[in-house]
Amino acid sequence: MVKVDLEKLIPQPRSRFLMVTCIGCGNRQVVFDSAKSVVRCTVCKEVLALPRGGKAKVVGKVNAVLT
Ligand SMILES: [Zn+2]
Repeated sequence: MVKVDLEKLIPQPRSRFLMVTCIGCGNRQVVFDSAKSVVRCTVCKEVLALPRGGKAKVVGKVNAVLT
């Protein structure tokens, strides 16, 4: 009987949620920092984060990191 360590088989990227302020309208929005697609402001559609090789490139102003 072999025990499989799932945490070693599946590397867990340190994903976080970021509180980002939109540079377009000042709206605050939670952005997943490993977003796989472009994240836009829900108010003015300004781009808040761009996908970039697993980690998102945050365009807006990061206010806080939510863990
Ligand atoms: Zn906005």
